Amino acid sequence: MTAIGIMGGTFDPIHYGHLRAAEEVRQGFGLERVVFVPSGRPPHKAAEEVTSPEHRYLMTLLATADNPYFEVSRMEIERKGPSYTLDSLRELRRLYSPEKALYFITGLDAVLEITSWNGYMELFDLADFIAVTRPGYSVQTLNDLGVHLGEERFSKIHPFPVTLLAISSRDIRRRVREGKSAKYLVPDPVMKYIEKERLYLSDPDRRVVRTGGPDFLA
Ligand code: NAP
Repeated sequence: MTAIGIMGGTFDPIHYGHLRAAEEVRQGFGLERVVFVPSGRPPHKAAEEVTSPEHRYLMTLLATADNPYFEVSRMEIERKGPSYTLDSLRELRRLYSPEKALYFITGLDAVLEITSWNGYMELFDLADFIAVTRPGYSVQTLNDLGVHLGEERFSKIHPFPVTLLAISSRDIRRRVREGKSAKYLVPDPVMKYIEKERLYLSDPDRRVVRTGGPDFLA
């Protein structure tokens, strides 16, 4: 059976930690391809905390363009309302033939919160989950989830250690805001995009008002 990876994240911005994780998971699980799904309106974050979906989508596109195994989906950008993973997995399940297994890839720290996600029990009927380990998070912390999920669902969570790159989107945003360089933490086209669009600067109004994406797309 062939399998497809679904790389879910806010990607604000996408960085080499995400890209390296996707590549190692693709090889480790023998995935046919990895579809990056930038979250449109993350249900667990205030709108003003998150850069516009269109900017995050375009940065994800720029970052993945040179990998023939990577694709980017606009499904959560286009869908109205909060971006629930359940809706995306239902849509992806309809899109791909039943023979294709789906593996939802995200950070271990995001997976640890999975029991707070909308309809989390059904998620496990649609996909397996790959919890990419990051510095500072021990796989042991996953064990408590087993109690809530039951053995069968819990067996569909696969912790997967990847090369530890201590890069985080939050740290990149902070560096840019403080006028420091984020070069070599993100692909160069992403860095140039951040500079051109003046993302992550200290003007909070800009982040709240600019929700429609770049002007040329408006
Ligand atoms: P987050 O809270 O921003 O991220 C949690 C942690 O995981 C962060 O440290 C983040 O690092 C890391 N991370 C996120 N995506 C990753 C990836 N693909 N690979 C490696 N590390 C990753 O979580 P999020 O990004 O908003 O959410 C992750 C996924 O879970 C998204 O697809 C989101 O839609 C889904 N989710 C769904 C629900 C729901 O359906 N109710 C609720 C919560 C999350 P960086 O900050 O460096 O990215």
